[in-house]
Amino acid sequence: MIRRLCVIGTGLIGGSLALALRRAGAVEEIIGAGRDEAHLRRAVELDVIDRHTTDLARAVLGADLVVLAVPLGAMQPVCAAVRDKLDGDAVLTDVGSAKQAVIDAVQAVFGALPARFVPGHPIAGTERSGVEAAFPGLFRGRRVILTPQAQTDSKALQTVRTMWEQTGAVVEEMEVAHHDRVLAATSHLPHMLAFALVDSLSRLGDRHEIFRFAAGGFRDFTRIASSDPVMWRDICLANAEALLTMMARYRTDLESIEDAVVRRDGEQLLEIFRRAKKARDRFVA
Ligand code: NAP
Repeated sequence: MIRRLCVIGTGLIGGSLALALRRAGAVEEIIGAGRDEAHLRRAVELDVIDRHTTDLARAVLGADLVVLAVPLGAMQPVCAAVRDKLDGDAVLTDVGSAKQAVIDAVQAVFGALPARFVPGHPIAGTERSGVEAAFPGLFRGRRVILTPQAQTDSKALQTVRTMWEQTGAVVEEMEVAHHDRVLAATSHLPHMLAFALVDSLSRLGDRHEIFRFAAGGFRDFTRIASSDPVMWRDICLANAEALLTMMARYRTDLESIEDAVVRRDGEQLLEIFRRAKKARDRFVA
């Protein structure tokens, strides 16, 4: 049972976590913190949190578990704001989409990585953001990856594991560089493709005609281009190396399709499309 949970960043992920833990009866009191008073008041109205404050240092006072659910670029300033007010035995965790960058930010603020800091990342989300988009079932049946470090306290790790299990998530542990590479491939690269495609088409002269005739395939492929631009700017900057490796590889593969089209090489195109269809069908099954 979490006695007092402090969620800094009561948006889609932080809000959904609060709702899920409340629904599971796993928490006594939830304090929400952020920059905007109106957003936090709305979170109270929606019964996502019990109390709120825009004073981050006050927010963490007396909390036994503190969750950082802000965009990656805000992790370091938020840590700096709460560092001296965290309870000695409070557990600190985060939900950031790139893990080495958060670990570096925490280390920069605390000097050494605190033993009671447990880096985490729920592999769940939608293209929407803010507390209005939060819902308690977001993590049910989804994976949460924890990337504990050598100095991570085993009890703190267990606390964070249990917290996520109470939302219905399946918790896994992973080495941090592996996490960042896997997520660059499965999440960060697809978002780049969706943003690039929509941006490219939206700047064509006959874009109105193009969007008028866009059908289900376009909608499916581009849904994630509606995601929050600030969050995605931060992810690109935070996971730049792994993302650049994937982008280079993708560019090479796209060029080989282009090359096959230039050469009118139907066999080569069929081979690529069949291989991709087989892989995707297997993944969906
Ligand atoms: P979100 O809905 O936009 O929520 C972000 C929250 O952070 C908002 O409540 C915002 O409230 C607050 N915030 C922003 N900057 C702040 C600052 N400097 N100080 C204090 N509070 C601040 O975003 P989200 O989708 O929940 O993403 C949050 C984190 O989860 C990110 O690190 C992201 O990488 C990670 N994540 C996202 C997904 C996804 O699919 N969305 C999935 C997994 C992990 P105010 O504007 O009121 O300050």
